[in-house]
Amino acid sequence: MKILVINAGSSSLKYQLFDMDNGTVLAKGLCECIGTGGRITHKKTGDEPYSLDIPFPTHDEALEAVLAVLTDEVHGVITDISEIDAVGHRIAHGGEKCKKSTLLDEETIAYIESIVPINPLHGPPALKGIRGCMRLMSTTPQVGVFDTSFYGEIPDYAYIYPLPYELYEQYQIRRYGFHGTSHRYVAGKVAELMGRPIEELKIVTCHLGNGSSITAVDHGKAIDTTMGFTPQEGVMMGTRSGTIDPTVVTYLINSVGMSGEEVEGILNRKSGLLGVSGISNDARDVTKAANEGNYRAQLALKILAHGIKKFIGSYIAEMNGIDALVFTAGLGENDIALRERVCADMDFFGIAIDAEKNNVRSETRNISADGARVQTFIIPTDEEYMIAMDTMSLVSR
Ligand code: AMP
Repeated sequence: MKILVINAGSSSLKYQLFDMDNGTVLAKGLCECIGTGGRITHKKTGDEPYSLDIPFPTHDEALEAVLAVLTDEVHGVITDISEIDAVGHRIAHGGEKCKKSTLLDEETIAYIESIVPINPLHGPPALKGIRGCMRLMSTTPQVGVFDTSFYGEIPDYAYIYPLPYELYEQYQIRRYGFHGTSHRYVAGKVAELMGRPIEELKIVTCHLGNGSSITAVDHGKAIDTTMGFTPQEGVMMGTRSGTIDPTVVTYLINSVGMSGEEVEGILNRKSGLLGVSGISNDARDVTKAANEGNYRAQLALKILAHGIKKFIGSYIAEMNGIDALVFTAGLGENDIALRERVCADMDFFGIAIDAEKNNVRSETRNISADGARVQTFIIPTDEEYMIAMDTMSLVSR
C-alpha cells in the first residue's frame, strides 16, 4: 500500500510517499515560496536531491508539481497517481471534536473550517492541501491526522484553565496541546525499545525544537502537556516566550502603549532563545556565543534547561513516578549539552545519563547511566510515518 503524506504550511508544502508494505520512504520533498515564487526540492530515495524553480501562485500548483515529480520518468517513483492508495494530511488543530485520526468527509472538513478562528495560522493552509488533493485525486481516500488528538483524553482538570468557565463554553478557550503526533510516535517507540507494553509505563516525552513541548504519557495516554490554547504556552522556544505572567501582556498594552498585535509579535517571534540572547533562535548560534562568554547567550540556555526541568518534575509528580524520559526533535536529538543540563541533578528521581552515551546526535539510543532507575532515550521523531500508519489503518478497515 502506498501512502502520500502531506504537511501544508502557509507558504510551503512537505510531502513523503511511503511504501507501507515494507515501511520505507520512496520519495520526499518540499515546495517552497507558495504565493511569492516557487521551488520544489525532491528526493527519490537513493538519488541525489533534484530542484526545480516553478511558479506556485497557490497550493494547487504546488500539489500538481508534487504529483508530476512523483510520476516523472526520471525522478519519479510511481507510473500513475492511481498507485497512491490514500493521502494522510497533517492537521495542527482538531478542536474539541476531532479526537482521533479520521477519514475526511465534507462534515469533518466543515468542522475544521469552523475552528479556523482558533487555528488561524495552520488551519487555512491545511484546508488548501486537503481541497487540492481532493480535486486532483478525487477517488483517493483522504485522512486527517491531528496534532491535538493525542490530548483528546487528558482530564478536564488538566485542560480547563482557571478562568470563568463561560470562556470555555463560549469561546472554546482551553488547553488543546500540540505536537501530539510526535509525542505519540516517540512514546510508542520507547515502549517498543524497552520491550514493555506502553500500558505499563510512565513516560515523559520532550519534543524540543524551534517549537517545544513536553508531555506526560501515563499508561499509554497523554494526561498533560505544556502547550495550551495555542503553541505559545509551556517551555521557552526558539522565538516564543512560553509561559509568562499574563499581566505582562496587559501592562505592555495599557501602561507602555503597545498594541495587541505588537505584543503578540514579541511573544511569538521576538522572545525565547532569540529574545533573551539577542543573537539567534537557533541553539547552535546561541551555544557558540555562550561558549565565547556571552552572558545573555549563557542566560538563555540556562532559562531553557531550567524550564524543561520544571515541567519534567511536575509530570513525574502528576504520574507519581517515571519509567522513561525521551528527547526528540531538533534540539532534543542534537543538543548534547542541553540534555546534559536537563538531566543533571535529577538522581533524586532516578534519572541519570552517561556522558559518553549522550555524546551523539540524531540517533536512537538509550543514554541512561548504568544502574539508573529511569531509562532515558534519544529517539528521532517521525511524524510523517505516524501519519502514514494512521492513514493505512483507516483505509484498510
Ligand atoms: P526542529 O524545529 O525540530 O526542526 O528543530 C530546529 C532546532 O533544532 C534549530 O533551531 C536548532 O536550535 C536545533 N538544532 C538542530 N541541530 C542542532 C545541533 N546540532 N545542535 C544544537 N541544536 C540543534
